[in-house]
Amino acid sequence: MTLQNKTAIVTGASRGIGQAIALELAKEGAKVVVNYSGSEARAQQVVEQIQAAGGEAIAVQANVADAESVAQLMSKALETFGSIDILVNNAGITRDNLLMRMKEDEWDDVMNTNLKGVFLCTKAVTRQMMKQRSGRIVNISSIVGVSGNAGQANYVAAKAGVIGLTKTTAKELASRNILVNAIAPGFITTDMTDELSEELKTAMLAQIPLAKLGQPEDIAKAVAFFASDAASYITGQTLHIDGGMVM
Ligand code: NAD
Repeated sequence: MTLQNKTAIVTGASRGIGQAIALELAKEGAKVVVNYSGSEARAQQVVEQIQAAGGEAIAVQANVADAESVAQLMSKALETFGSIDILVNNAGITRDNLLMRMKEDEWDDVMNTNLKGVFLCTKAVTRQMMKQRSGRIVNISSIVGVSGNAGQANYVAAKAGVIGLTKTTAKELASRNILVNAIAPGFITTDMTDELSEELKTAMLAQIPLAKLGQPEDIAKAVAFFASDAASYITGQTLHIDGGMVM
């Protein structure tokens, strides 16, 4: 186990990629704070899965786009486990529309959760990580933040912003031994992608050299690597996990 005695906060961890990350970090020995905004029952199931495998976890409700809520999430994590060693900024939403039809609230909702949320959570853990003189932050961006994608101006701008934020925080925090990296997933099978039409899924599959969709575990294993000692000389990087879609 590579993460024993570490505490990890995973945002948006009640399902999909976040759930897989929470399970993987726990498997590597981390105590996990399973953040959720929606279904408490699903977050509790993730906690029970971790506990059944002999791990430690708690579920904490918080909206990553709200500073007060984020502060409560951090306090609860600290109060329960005593440290915050790993933050995974995973929570994200889509509100897709063509630019000319995109409403201001669709823009704002996505920017607030997907970009401002990363800023707020990063800022909130940084004070504690600075005191500890160590920390790992892993931001979940998207391959479309690198390549662009028609119909997702809000999402692409936020995910590109996450890559910029990753590089900047990596530079600002390196002297305190806080390492910040990003992962840009391609097309991963989750509830988020289940909502897409079959036509779009077939078109996307045709662009993937490895000719298959990714699984949440593909992302989770890379997060565990970035959080581990094996990645102690890596910061400010964005790892594409996309079956070779964007090279
Ligand atoms: P998902 O919709 O299954 O899960 C997203 C989670 O984030 C949910 O649990 C949701 O409740 C939570 N969440 C949403 N808003 C929140 C808020 N304000 N505060 C706290 N939690 C909030 O999606 P997923 O596919 O598992 O995606 C996880 C991350 O990976 C997202 O950042 C997404 O943009 C990114 N991503 C996904 C794919 C993909 O193909 N699935 C590709 C690239 C990037």
